[in-house]
Amino acid sequence: MTAPKALVAGNWKMNGLTASKKEIEKLQSMISENGANCDVLICPPATIIGLLSGKGVEIGAQDCHMNISGAHTGDISALMLKDLGCHYVMVGHSERRSDHGESNDMVKSKAIAAQQQGLAAIICVGESDAERENGETLDVVTAQIKGSIPEDAIVKNTVIAYEPVWAIGTGKTPTADDVAEVHMVIRNLLMDRFGDEGEMVRILYGGSVKASNAHELMSVLNVNGALVGGASLKAEDFYGIIATYQ
Ligand code: PEP
Repeated sequence: MTAPKALVAGNWKMNGLTASKKEIEKLQSMISENGANCDVLICPPATIIGLLSGKGVEIGAQDCHMNISGAHTGDISALMLKDLGCHYVMVGHSERRSDHGESNDMVKSKAIAAQQQGLAAIICVGESDAERENGETLDVVTAQIKGSIPEDAIVKNTVIAYEPVWAIGTGKTPTADDVAEVHMVIRNLLMDRFGDEGEMVRILYGGSVKASNAHELMSVLNVNGALVGGASLKAEDFYGIIATYQ
């Protein structure tokens, strides 16, 4: 079995207005002129998903509700995201887990909702600074993976993003050896879960990825792409990471 095609995904978080369409168009021109040897995804705020066309760049979402419709003021369902043309939705980002108290069970329910609508769920996992200091990284990540992947998930609709919480937005990154160790544990869990096909599930690394460190991080065994926050907001910065795969 070969390695999966890499995915470089941008998480815009709560940034982006209607004018940000221009930034996506700039990225699309850079990709059409210079190429991209990986899949490229932007997850903008839900307010502008409908304005963006996915030519050369997939448009995804940052979260979805676990139900398809109903009395859930302010929430957005996977069906609505599918209706807008999304093929991916992130679930369980650490900012959702901390800001909204999302447990593994809730993350799993959201992933089920996404996958039932034909979307791929990007399931985010990662240890906090304190957990890392206590030597709990592998236990925490293992529990998150086991608790967040739906029973009916298949390789095609599952992406894992390993994002150490202490590396998100801080400019700090784990060493390549540390990333390799965690990604190997995740790969083994995926192989236990999906058999040989577990090799084809993409495992993204996220946390302060930028053009200057992307090559080192993306070269690590079992790293099949990146989930990028701050450096995905500007087309030039983001393309610098995408170009790692040229
Ligand atoms: C993220 O938000 O998922 C992320 C990895 O952010 P940053 O790249 O800014 O650390």
